[in-house]
Amino acid sequence: KSGFISIIGRPNVGKSTFLNRVVGQKIAIMSDKPQTTRNKVQGVVTTDESQLIFIDTPGIHKPKHKLGDFMVKSARNTLKEVDVIMFMVNANEPIGGGDRFIIDLLENTKTPVFLIINKIDLVHPDDLLATITSYTEVYDFAEVVPLSALNGNNVERLMETLTKYL
Ligand code: GDP
Ligand code: MG
Repeated sequence: KSGFISIIGRPNVGKSTFLNRVVGQKIAIMSDKPQTTRNKVQGVVTTDESQLIFIDTPGIHKPKHKLGDFMVKSARNTLKEVDVIMFMVNANEPIGGGDRFIIDLLENTKTPVFLIINKIDLVHPDDLLATITSYTEVYDFAEVVPLSALNGNNVERLMETLTKYL
């Protein structure tokens, strides 16, 4: 199985840290899916059962000027075409305006969205549930996955779950 995944989330939630951890192969796509040429491939993860292709989604943050609207449109189109959207947030911070802006972009998206609660190494498990609820009460996520991109906790489990959606 092979499929496309887009990681979105406001700055500093750990998107690059996650990609650096999981991506072994920088490019060399073996897929015939058309969007490969249109979106920037950030990396490929090959597991026993699957090939996960991570692609960039430019324009997913708050538009500051006119060009921003175009970027947002392009981001929406990208999100429509991938197999899974990983929406990454900080486990140690409550939901904020930057997160809400992105959630608004996800409105009416048919693509399954995973809520990725990153940096669980920084929080006490008892505090995690309140943070998760602050997100799940505003959006119907396909999966909720707490992990640590830094130490790798639960990352393998995420890979298995992603594979189910390809
Ligand atoms: P990006 O802007 O979303 O790409 O975020 P980065 O990957 O650049 O990470 C921002 C900061 O968060 C860096 O200092 C990372 O080391 C840190 N970070 C990322 N993931 C984790 C994590 O799981 N645990 C902890 N404690 N820090 C993390
Ligand atoms: Mg980054």
